[in-house]
Parts: sequence; structure tokens; C-alpha cells
Amino acid sequence: MEFISQLRHTFASGKTKSLEWRQGQLLALKQMLEENEKTIYKALFDDLGKCQFESHVSEYGFVLKDIALFLKKTKQWAKPRNVKTPLLLQPGKSKITPEPLGTVLIMGAWNYPLQLVLSPMVAALAAGNCIVLKPSELSQATSNLLADLVPKYLDPNAIVVYEGDVAATTELLKQRFDHIMYTGSEAVGKIVMRAASEYLTPVTLELGGKSPCIVDDNTNIKVTADRIVWGKFINAGQTCIAPDYILVTPKQREPLIKALQLSLIKQYGHDPKQSPDYGRIINDRHFQRITGYLNGIEDKLIVGGQTDAEQKYIAPTLIFGPELTSPVMQEEIFGPLLPIIEVASMDKAVNFINDREKPLALYLFSNDELTIKKVTNETSAGTLSINDTVVFMVNSEFPFGGVGNSGMGSYHGKWGFDSFSHLKPVLHKSFFADAPVRYAPYSGWKQKAFKFLAKF
Ligand code: NAD
Repeated sequence: MEFISQLRHTFASGKTKSLEWRQGQLLALKQMLEENEKTIYKALFDDLGKCQFESHVSEYGFVLKDIALFLKKTKQWAKPRNVKTPLLLQPGKSKITPEPLGTVLIMGAWNYPLQLVLSPMVAALAAGNCIVLKPSELSQATSNLLADLVPKYLDPNAIVVYEGDVAATTELLKQRFDHIMYTGSEAVGKIVMRAASEYLTPVTLELGGKSPCIVDDNTNIKVTADRIVWGKFINAGQTCIAPDYILVTPKQREPLIKALQLSLIKQYGHDPKQSPDYGRIINDRHFQRITGYLNGIEDKLIVGGQTDAEQKYIAPTLIFGPELTSPVMQEEIFGPLLPIIEVASMDKAVNFINDREKPLALYLFSNDELTIKKVTNETSAGTLSINDTVVFMVNSEFPFGGVGNSGMGSYHGKWGFDSFSHLKPVLHKSFFADAPVRYAPYSGWKQKAFKFLAKF
């Protein structure tokens, strides 16, 4: 592919290494967003029926905030980082020097089609890389818009938007990259990793899976319900870190269900289809997939279940006690269905989670210190969030990423800068005082001296 040779050529020229170039591109990206705000909201609405508030908070504003952080911090993060030098290496200095990786590929998913490609791109640009941006073809309006805008604002010799379906992506993955960041499903994550292995290209995989939500006896049930409803039903449940299902104690079951019902009415009204704030499913295939989960479990529905294929609308739906072997409890739901499972105790909840793949996010609602300690120490997840859902994303001090089946590597803030950099150790020795202790012949006194010096 000719354009990749061009990107490699640009990288080899050293142009992208300069701080001025990096900051210039970040400013150009900011300008691109600001001058096209309304068009961006329209594309997100066309793709997902996303309302302006959600588009602002989770996509447009999110990326602008990222850009502001990187504009402020890139100079500092790009500087060599001094580290200690052990006595054996004295006199000398040790530094870690971040260097860009080269030409990187960023592949995004359709559910946050702007944020999931531009947020990694901000980090990759700030780290001084050339970039191929591959938005998801399922969110076509946003993909087309990016393909149109990016070359108008950013350096076309260093950043290319590549659009296309599975066949086109398969071709793209045959090319050599210096890093691939992929956001999407586990199945395609494996395809990406297999392709990357051809050139030993390192990968960051931002995957998904089922993110559980535990509700303990000791919690503020009203706030708990509001936060679960918000985190589950934004973007019509199509959020990688949305609570996938709830584990609740017998005592808390009825109060929780009641509070969830009230919260749903409060947030989306009696008919969520009429709510301007409630989104739609991305396409027919996903609509069929999600509504298919309801087959055979109609008697378990507590709220919702209404669908409209033409509008790709699925009502916020609460399900109580589905079989654990049913598809809704076996697969990532990635839609507005929320199963509730009763567990006898917090021990049982922890076992339930540990019997399954490590989640991208784990939510716990509890005021009990022992329970919090137990869940923190005895479970593993990409992120553990106590007493809230989804909002941990806005803390750019956190590395965002999965563990085990939910992914590998991370980004956001400095973590993103480091993911798109090689952290190159540089040891700089002096010619002064060249102690003979390491040189042969290795006489007895040298071994003793070496052992002693190695302690410092
Ligand atoms: P998707 O279908 O948009 O695929 C993502 C990317 O992979 C696209 O660019 C697409 O072109 C490419 N692709 C798809 N099939 C391919 C194939 N066979 N070969 C090569 N490339 C291919 O998105 P998706 O996979 O439906 O995304 C949903 C999943 O992503 C969910 O599991 C969700 O949890 C996860 N997700 C994770 C995050 C995160 O940050 N960890 C964010 C969003 C979504």
C-alpha cells in the first residue's frame, strides 16, 4: 500500500519527532473539532441516534479534554526521565528517553466512533508517530466525516484515514506497522494479534466482555439505581464498560428492582421511545442479536422488552433470574438489557466473578469496608469502580484497559503517551575512574568486591 510507504518516509525524515510538529497537529485537531462541532453531532446522531448531551460528554468534549491535557503535558512527558544509577555503574547517568515507535495503526469500534479513534490518536500524535486511522465501517457517517475532515486539517503526509469493510481491513492488516491499537471484540482482537505476529508488531487490545455489577445490602439504594441506570442505558447499552448484569443479595433484591424502575421512569419517562435522550441500536444485525436474547425468557422480564425494528429501538429492559446457561448470561450483551441475578452472599458474588473471564470493569455498590476490601483483594478486572459506573473513564490518571480476556495494554493521559512510545533506557558512562573489578582474570578479591558493590 503506497500510502504506508509515504508515512514511513515521513517518519524517517524525523519531522514528527519535533515538539513543534506534535503540538501543531494537536492544535489542528482541536480546530478541526471546534469548527465542525455541529456536523460531528449530526454524524453521531445518524449512526447511533446519539443525543447532543451524550455526544458532547462521551465523544466530542472527551477528545477536546484529552487534547488540552496533551497540549499541556507533552513537553514534560517527552523529556528524558532521570532514574537512579547504581554504584557499580558510577560514574554515570541513567535516563529513560521516550521515542516514537514509527507508523502505528489505530482501529476503532463503532459504539463511540469518534472518541475511540481520536483519543488514541491524540496520544499517538503527541508521542510523535505517523498514523493510519481505521474507523469502524459500521458507524459509517462518522467514518466518512473523519475521512473528509482529517486530511483538511492534519498533516496528510503523516496521518491517513483508511476506510473500509472486513475485506479492506484484512488487506490493511497484512501491512507492517510499528504498533497496533485495536478497540473492538475479542474475536477480531485475535485476528489482529495473529496478523501483528507476522512482523512481531506489539499490540494494545481494548476489548470487552461482561462487566458485572455487585449490589450489597449496605448501600444507598436510590443513588445506586440512578448510577446503574445511567451507566447501563447511555448509548442504549452499547458501551464496553456498561454494567452487563447485576448480582444482588436476597435482602436487597426487591428494593433494588423498585429503585431501578423508578430511576428508569425519572431518566427516560414512561415511554423511553419518545425520550430525546435515549439512543438506538447501530444496525439490523445487532438489533437482531440483542432481541434474540429475549427469546424464551419472556417470563423473566420485569420492565421493558418492547422493540421496534424499523427504528432499531429496544426499550431499557430489566430481566430477573435468567438461566446462567442462556445466551444473555453467556455473551456480552452490548445493548439495553439488564439481567439481575440473586446471590446468597458477597462470597458467592466473588466466586461468581472468579468463575468467569476477567472483566473490563467491575462495579461494586457497598458502604461496607470489609466487603470493599474483599472484592478489591479477591477479584481481578481492568478497573474496579466502587459506588459508581462508567465515570472512572474521565480520570486520565488511570490507565484504561483490560486484563486477561478483556484486553492488554492501556491508554489515557500519560499511559497513552507511553503506549505509543518506546521508553528507551540510555546509560551514559564516564571514562573517568574505570574500576578493574569486572575484568578478567576474576581473582578472589574481585568477586568479594563485586558482591559488596552490587549491594548499592
Ligand atoms: P467493529 O465491528 O466496529 O470492529 C472494530 C474494528 O475491527 C473495525 O475497525 C472493523 O473494521 C474491524 N473488523 C471487524 N471485523 C474484522 C475482521 N474479521 N477482520 C479484520 N478487521 C475487522 O466493533 P465490534 O467488534 O462490534 O465492537 C464491539 C466490541 O468492542 C464489544 O465487545 C465491546 O465491549 C468492545 N469495545 C471495547 C472498548 C474498549 O475500550 N475496551 C470500547 C468499545 C468497544
